[in-house]
Amino acid sequence: MKTSSYVVPYNYLPMQFADPSTIIGDWEELIRSGEFTLGPYVEHFEAEFAKFVGADYCVSTNNGTDALLLALKALNIGRGDEVITPCNSFYATTGAIVAAGATPVFCDVDSRYQASVETIEKKLSSRTRAVLPVHWGGASPHMPEIIELAGSEGLSVIEDACMAIGGSIENQHPGTFGDIGAFSMHPLKSLNVMGDGGMVTTNNSDLAAWMKKYRNHGMVDRDTIEFWGVNMRLQPLQAVVASRMILDLPSRLHKRREIQKTLDSRLAELPGVTIPRRVPSHKETVSLYMILAERRDQLLKHLSEHGVEAKIHYPIPLHLQKPGLALGYSAGDMVVAESQANALVTLPAHEYLNGEQINHLVSAVGSFREG
Ligand SMILES: *Cc1c(COP(=O)(O)O)cnc(C)c1O
Repeated sequence: MKTSSYVVPYNYLPMQFADPSTIIGDWEELIRSGEFTLGPYVEHFEAEFAKFVGADYCVSTNNGTDALLLALKALNIGRGDEVITPCNSFYATTGAIVAAGATPVFCDVDSRYQASVETIEKKLSSRTRAVLPVHWGGASPHMPEIIELAGSEGLSVIEDACMAIGGSIENQHPGTFGDIGAFSMHPLKSLNVMGDGGMVTTNNSDLAAWMKKYRNHGMVDRDTIEFWGVNMRLQPLQAVVASRMILDLPSRLHKRREIQKTLDSRLAELPGVTIPRRVPSHKETVSLYMILAERRDQLLKHLSEHGVEAKIHYPIPLHLQKPGLALGYSAGDMVVAESQANALVTLPAHEYLNGEQINHLVSAVGSFREG
């Protein structure tokens, strides 16, 4: 695989898959079995995943976007329904709401970049049917409070836990608080499967049964369908990688959290940099290590010149994207998220960084003001 020219690369995939021999061995077994659509390898991983997150039921999908869409469809959310969701997620969260035929209603976020009861409450209307909070960056909103609000308002809750596989909130897994949790196994997520993959979880057997059928053409068996469905199936090639990668996920995330802790304490000493507050009872997946920085664009250039590959997630919030503006939003509607969008920097903070690279990263951020 191509090695990065950065001293501190953002991309961890070449390191994660440096030795593919185990996976190739697993694939050879799969290939010999001929089980290329659903079947035992997919079912095996679904059982493992349900156990891993502590959910009663789990249905795999071809990606996280379809997991969200499947969840919305299962809850019968569509035309005329409003779904409240944060304005600072990846496009897919809102894309799924629109694909289901419902209307996304954006809410602002808190200083930890997460939706909150306060920001959600402001967006409630007589048409609100559901709340779709996001575990943004692999950190989590305060789910118990959101569940309480949704309960008192009679709203469904779908959690976008796409970035949060392996996290926890007071020892409970993200995605298991609401009616349905949606997860992604895209290469940039904590559990990644060398391609696309997704998952929904629920403790409701009726929802689980419906999602299982809808994912596979509404089929009851080969000759019978119960309703019109689609094909959202996870590929067995990916399920096999998932079963392998989930084994050391906890230890890899443990390393990431150690790196997060180191970076938090060392970067907090630097002027012009703000680290989000961490909640002691939450375990983050550190999918995006995001800080706020003064003169962000100049800092990014400085970091790049000093061999640090940094990113922005994202410079334009969803409500200010072209289709967001078309919904009637404008600049100034989401004060917190908009000011964060101008200052956010995502630094490399993956488990393959060594002590030298971390020192290099911290001094590159530190030398920005001196320069
Ligand atoms: C990645 C991601 C998605 C979409 O998942 P895909 O598997 O890429 O379709 C949705 N929401 C969030 C928050 C994500 O990070």
